[in-house]
Amino acid sequence: MSLVVVGSVAYDGVETPHGKVDRMLGGAATYIALAAAYFTPVKLVAVVGDDFAPEDGALLASRDIDLAGLERVAGGKTFFWAGVYSADMNDRTTLRTDLNVFADFDPKLPESYRGEPYLLLGNIQPALQRGVLSQMNQLKLAGGDTMNYWIQDFRQELLATIAQWDFLLINDSEAQMLSGWRNLRRAAAAIQAMGPRTLVIKRGEYGAVLFHGDDHFIAPGYLLEEVFDPTGAGDSFAGGFIGYLAGQGVAAKDADVATLRRAVIYGSVMGSFCCEKFGVDRFRSLTREEIDARFREFQSCTQF
Ligand code: AMP
Repeated sequence: MSLVVVGSVAYDGVETPHGKVDRMLGGAATYIALAAAYFTPVKLVAVVGDDFAPEDGALLASRDIDLAGLERVAGGKTFFWAGVYSADMNDRTTLRTDLNVFADFDPKLPESYRGEPYLLLGNIQPALQRGVLSQMNQLKLAGGDTMNYWIQDFRQELLATIAQWDFLLINDSEAQMLSGWRNLRRAAAAIQAMGPRTLVIKRGEYGAVLFHGDDHFIAPGYLLEEVFDPTGAGDSFAGGFIGYLAGQGVAAKDADVATLRRAVIYGSVMGSFCCEKFGVDRFRSLTREEIDARFREFQSCTQF
């Protein structure tokens, strides 16, 4: 039973106080898939150009990631994004977004994907997210991510989309923008009323808050000694969260709070590992044993 992941596969240019890389593998779906594949088989849906390097495809293929849904456009160029971080790395300025083949992305799921039970919709246009969900016929748990651009300029489309989701992952400023409430508790209640029963509000280095029905759970961020590059941390969080739930066989109708809490901690664990090296580099060597060791560290450092 696999997790279907939809979103961008990209090349990124990133500058942080620790260095600069002009072009490296990135994209929301890349981070989600790499993180989730530690917990469950993944089926990727994305588009790249013919500049997509064989070694980048090989990294994905070396994990439990099915690439049948990775469309390659002959003569096209892969989505390119560049950004620079502030000195404290809490702010990021986008320098360049070249949509390239991503501009015409209209995800068509291979037949072999449609009966899978788990779906994570990465940050793409809400109407496309809805189109993907409608192609699946045996979903047990579905949800995704969005961003300020869609909240501001595609609000009605976004509302129609998330109304069908079991869970939404969003950062705190976006939750405030979507709900109109500054207060996170009120913001969460307003967003849950829009559809998703489970809501995870990500707070960057400060962790995340899970809201599920009437319950909530506050997860701290892992205290890293050094953050090299936060790019993809939110997506890796999403991958850890849904990957764990899929690996456990959880269905929306019987998701219990204890399991969801563990999923949030696995999300925090994967987000923290992502920051330890540039781009996806930490995932090249990361092992499941290291993930579980950090999970246990989370348990011991939050027990009282
Ligand atoms: P995160 O740091 O978790 O927000 O994820 C950053 C990743 O999202 C980068 O690897 C980018 O390639 C990708 N990305 C940036 N802008 C967009 C966009 N407009 N649509 C889809 N993916 C994007």
